[in-house]
Amino acid sequence: MKALVVEPGVPHSARVEETETTVADSEVPVRVLEVGMCGTDREIVEGLFGVAPEGEDLLVLGHEALGVVERDGHGFERGDLVSGIVRRSCGHCLACAEGSPDSCLTGDYSERGITRLHGYARELVGEDPDQLVPIPRELGRLGVLAEPTSDCVRALRHARAIGERQPWTPGRALVTGAGPIGTLVTLLLRLDGYDVVTTSLEPAKPLIAESGAEYVPAGDADLGLFDLVVECAGNAQLMADALGRLRRSGVACLLGIDGRVQRVSIDGPTIGVDTVLGNRALFGSVNARREDWLAGIDALDRMRRRWPGVLEQLLGLRVPIDRFEEALAYTGGKATLVLSE
Ligand code: BGC
Repeated sequence: MKALVVEPGVPHSARVEETETTVADSEVPVRVLEVGMCGTDREIVEGLFGVAPEGEDLLVLGHEALGVVERDGHGFERGDLVSGIVRRSCGHCLACAEGSPDSCLTGDYSERGITRLHGYARELVGEDPDQLVPIPRELGRLGVLAEPTSDCVRALRHARAIGERQPWTPGRALVTGAGPIGTLVTLLLRLDGYDVVTTSLEPAKPLIAESGAEYVPAGDADLGLFDLVVECAGNAQLMADALGRLRRSGVACLLGIDGRVQRVSIDGPTIGVDTVLGNRALFGSVNARREDWLAGIDALDRMRRRWPGVLEQLLGLRVPIDRFEEALAYTGGKATLVLSE
């Protein structure tokens, strides 16, 4: 069967190869329908990230999966739609022991399609039943958004926990970046009733406006101050700027990644005075635990009903696995690889 593989650390080594998959009795056989591609996959393909399973040279890519259960068993029925939790316990830290590998304290975790564990960009996967998450039938193909949505839900859960360490009534949020993550964060914040301003380099983003958020092309416009800033553009300068865009007790959350070796600047008094006197906080967030997946899937269903057609528009490109390069280069929204119809 076909799989999208890469030699981690070797730029542009990604290719489609024939591979064998064996499914153990303890696993659920999952036929993969579709796999989303994201910035992390791009980094792995560029040789900047990713680790193959121990003793192997190749890594099967793909961590944003939508699949269908092939056989009854382990609490699942043939035909059930599922996705799979990306990060797996390191086996020896408090966070992993408490069901939060998203907060792993050792870094020895594994991640499907990213770190030490093959991914889902292949036709059949044997999966640990404890790592499968049910996708409601009504969500259908939109279930491929479960993984990126879980990361956004987790980030907002942490932002709330940080904000609520003191009396806090957040109402106004800024999202920088309007790619798939910026869009999902915007929609989640709108579901939570925030007034949202979303900015990016694009001149217009009709999809953002449909959710009732205000879309402002990045520029010199004075947007005022915010209770919550979520940086989704993956731009380290914008990450530093986030502190200066906060109201009193505001929280800035960094969700994008920017690995460029560079220096960014920040006004001395912004960090040295305003952040202290205004009780502001800045933090980063990665990955998600099971409760975030379940909350994310529920939120996707609410988005689908509240803004019909919007999530479908976000899934802008759907191509067969052989056209993975097109999917990786796509910037118009979320691109997915189709493994089975
Ligand atoms: C994935 C996360 C993962 C992170 C770092 C992201 O693209 O969505 O699940 O933890 O990359 O590997």
